[in-house]
Amino acid sequence: MRKIQMVDLKGQYKKIKEVVDSSVLEVIDSAAFINGPRVHEFQKNLEEYLGVKHVIPCANGTDALQIAMMGLGLKPGDEVITADFTFAATVEVIALLQLTPVLVDVDPVNFNIDIDAIKKAITPKTKAIVPVHLFGLCANMDAVMELAKEHDLYVIEDNAQAIGADYTYSNGNKVKAGAISHVASTSFFPSKNLGCYGDGGAIFTNDDDLAHTIRGIVNHGMYKRYHHDVVGVNSRLDSMQAAVLNAKLPHLDTYNKARRSAAQKYNEAFRDMDNVITPCGCNKCSTINDTCNCHVFHQYTLRVIDVDRDALVAHLNSQEIPCGVYYPIPLHRQKAYLDSRYNEDDFRVTNQLVKEVISLPMHTELDDEQIEFITSAVKNFIKNN
Ligand SMILES: *Cc1c(COP(=O)(O)O)cnc(C)c1O
Repeated sequence: MRKIQMVDLKGQYKKIKEVVDSSVLEVIDSAAFINGPRVHEFQKNLEEYLGVKHVIPCANGTDALQIAMMGLGLKPGDEVITADFTFAATVEVIALLQLTPVLVDVDPVNFNIDIDAIKKAITPKTKAIVPVHLFGLCANMDAVMELAKEHDLYVIEDNAQAIGADYTYSNGNKVKAGAISHVASTSFFPSKNLGCYGDGGAIFTNDDDLAHTIRGIVNHGMYKRYHHDVVGVNSRLDSMQAAVLNAKLPHLDTYNKARRSAAQKYNEAFRDMDNVITPCGCNKCSTINDTCNCHVFHQYTLRVIDVDRDALVAHLNSQEIPCGVYYPIPLHRQKAYLDSRYNEDDFRVTNQLVKEVISLPMHTELDDEQIEFITSAVKNFIKNN
């Protein structure tokens, strides 16, 4: 059996090596390293793929979130509601901009921001909601957008983990994740579903004015050369990363399909385990099936009930099976984000999830033998403990 990896970037690269290598070499040869034609080409390709009017490439997914918030003109003291159970980047940029992060609990089934918790957290100071499409499945965007409309709030999708996913509205219509809200961010960090070979990110919006504002912000607040109208940042996707992304974007649907197929096999293997909760495949139909592209499994995350999760992690590691705990500490208990307004009773789901979640190897190159080995190791440990 091939050695099991959490993410197999080398295996994926081997299959597209020729195209990637020639694209990167072409950039070096052209010396158009910054804002070169490959960046523009990628922007257009991604706009078309997502069905959004504007893609603004930038340096990484954290910048993308920050720039989206700057573009909306959020001001110090404005409250921004986001999920307690996510990667810290989401809350970090809110705090950096001196906005007030308001962390709320998540839904135990889809792991995403809980609608009732948002309702409870809205105050006259609330200006925006940041749903994170965690692990590759969209938050309940029908409800988030409806609440936002009712209270006149902006919605910023953190789409770092769900690029290529569909969202099915309650009326059955489909849209790409990141094309739902006022503005969205994504990351091209190497291990993300569409990863480059370094750092990269992008902002998406259908709003022409906002897109114009953001194009200036990413480039030192310049709309005309050496005229700085607003305080901006330097956040660019470089041409070599754009060349890699151009080579990989045509494969994104196939990559996500491979992830979904691995997830389906995992789910099947755990079907008879009472104390293992397998991930929900879709907000609408809940299953993982061949016609639904709603979950793109950035991570495949189980909940293990009444099992010593950390001992399971140690057991898998001893069998040379890598695994991850995303995330072990709720953001509201992180030193940097403590706030006396938080009440532990309001974070019951997150507090439970951090003890129960375990993410198994998930990437485009997993084979059946590896999946069988991983699932047997998990099942044996649980049955014998
Ligand atoms: C990866 C990630 C980010 C940050 O992306 P970077 O490109 O690493 O800055 C933001 N939010 C979420 C949910 C992520 O998973």
